[in-house]
Amino acid sequence: MSRYDLRTIAPEDGLPTVVCSSCRDQLESCHRFRRVAHRTQKSLHSYLSYTAALAGSEEFFV
Ligand SMILES: [Zn+2]
Repeated sequence: MSRYDLRTIAPEDGLPTVVCSSCRDQLESCHRFRRVAHRTQKSLHSYLSYTAALAGSEEFFV
């Protein structure tokens, strides 16, 4: 699990300790979506930096 999950889940938070398979599937698909979104953001960001470098501008460097 990521640091985000570790920070938001605690034994005393009252959440159920088991999930049904349908909820597990949804959770896994959310997790996959999150990973894809992060990867896409990274590649879009490096593409912007690349095109900004080609254009001689630093506007997109963050
Ligand atoms: Zn469920």
